[in-house]
Amino acid sequence: MVNTTPADVPASFLPAPAIEAVAVGYVRQSSAKTDKSEASPLTQRSTNESEALTRGARFLRHFEDIGISGWDPDAYREGFENMLKAARSGAFNMLIVYDVSRFSRREVMDAIPIVSELHRLGITIVSVMDGIFAPRDTMALIYLIMRLDAVNKESEHKSKKVRDVKAAQRAEGSWLGGQTPYGFDAERYLKGKLSLMRLVHSKKEAANLRRIVALIFKYKDQPVSKRKGQRNPGTLSAICDDMTAKGIPTRGQRKGKDRANSAWGVKTLKWILLNPAIAGMRADPIYKVKDNGTKTNTLIGYRIHRDEDGRPVMMCEPIIPPAQWYELQAWLMGRGQGEGVARGTSLLSGLRNADRKAILTCECGRPDKAQNSGAKPVYVCTRGTYVPTKPGEHEAKNSVMQSHLDDYVARRIFAVIQDATCSDASAETLAIVAEAARVFSMAQERPETAAERTEVVAERADAQNALSDLYDDLDAGLYSGPVGRERFIAKKARIEARISAAEARLESLADPESVELPLAAWLESENGDPLGEDSWWATADLADKRKFVELFVRKITVKPTANAHGGRVRGGYDVTKRIELEFVQPKRESESEAA
Ligand SMILES: [Zn+2]
Repeated sequence: MVNTTPADVPASFLPAPAIEAVAVGYVRQSSAKTDKSEASPLTQRSTNESEALTRGARFLRHFEDIGISGWDPDAYREGFENMLKAARSGAFNMLIVYDVSRFSRREVMDAIPIVSELHRLGITIVSVMDGIFAPRDTMALIYLIMRLDAVNKESEHKSKKVRDVKAAQRAEGSWLGGQTPYGFDAERYLKGKLSLMRLVHSKKEAANLRRIVALIFKYKDQPVSKRKGQRNPGTLSAICDDMTAKGIPTRGQRKGKDRANSAWGVKTLKWILLNPAIAGMRADPIYKVKDNGTKTNTLIGYRIHRDEDGRPVMMCEPIIPPAQWYELQAWLMGRGQGEGVARGTSLLSGLRNADRKAILTCECGRPDKAQNSGAKPVYVCTRGTYVPTKPGEHEAKNSVMQSHLDDYVARRIFAVIQDATCSDASAETLAIVAEAARVFSMAQERPETAAERTEVVAERADAQNALSDLYDDLDAGLYSGPVGRERFIAKKARIEARISAAEARLESLADPESVELPLAAWLESENGDPLGEDSWWATADLADKRKFVELFVRKITVKPTANAHGGRVRGGYDVTKRIELEFVQPKRESESEAA
């Protein structure tokens, strides 16, 4: 006798009880932007909902991951995780997706455990594009896995094809598309079957660039006496205004439809000039990355491509020579608030030391500027009126009268010179005067020598950059493994050889013909006061006096005062307590001019 109870019959042999179908949708899109290759979240949502309707299911809700790639193994898919949680708690029994690639674009193996778990939980997977995959249906599961695999192969194949073409173009040194740097147009040409692009000078833009660079070089070190209402034509803002006035089109006006109203701006011009492409070098833009790791569109620099020796890879005819570009770069990078070209309106404003830093600075670190509008001209901190005060910074405006500070600085310098002419001059004084003499001699040397020095300093700076790029690559794991390590060591040796060659050449250019400082002439005066009525100081013109201060002084720091009358002395005003003055110092071995 056969005794069977329903409990002994395997569950799969029983007719399925009529359970209400409860559906959820899962929506994923890899980028927040809509892209033609993917169905938009809107499309995915509406097709998922109507699919639920067609299948007679009650639609519960959507789970979504927008802006998360199906490729990234580390991406945390919050929507997906929440969907799994809801599945485990039995909240639904049908999962609807637009297509199977919503699960994962990576290895099929990654998707199998998830699909199996959903099936174990009794959940039917519905893919609008691929069909229905019911739980306990082994064939359906196998088919689903095959579909996933096919989807992955397809997209892999597609991106490999794109990658291969890009790699071939890159190997040929082709311009890879995108907006060309200012000064250039892209020109298409064929090499065999490969379509390549190269950068060629855009006649008008290149000419404009050369004109801008010439203007900057003409005015950047030259103090101009400024009459009222007259501007220094060599500043970036003056150049921008001039171009706007002349109607020279910006890139946006020439090319873009949506940016046709763009005007010349200092920032844009600065980045145009900082682009190594204008010196013919291949470079990638570097964008700012936020603390949370997301890339922004804010340009923060360029990285130059380098060959095995670490030398820049050239990609086109330079618009300005590389050596000149390095000098331009140094000038542009050294510029900050209030650090324009030399203005010549006062003795101390706008002076630069050997490191191209402002000599006259406020205690808060900002440079001081000259303010000549009042009855008593002052030097004043360049902190903007609306810039909030940082803790520890001066609250009120920090200014000092020009006549007081000029007098103080000149006296300090002449004290050093007087000491230097004594037989028992201090070591400190001799060091200052030696450094001043070195700089003075350099200014007197033959232009060819000066040009070569610039060239060699640029070469050394470039090799040093190449070395630091190399170390960055090492940190990024580009030279891992024994073969990589060997390549790294070889490259490093070649770059270091360049640095030492440049240093040896600089050494031989170091002391061309030492010129003696005209100390006696500077001190000459009738009554013994080097600042007296008929002294050199009293009769020299402003440009010469500014050069004189630059020779001796490295930095002047102006401290704020709580009591403006505190410095009053008989017949004048003593600023000594408020001023810190650093004289020039010979460079130590470890420092370099280009750093
Ligand atoms: Zn300040």
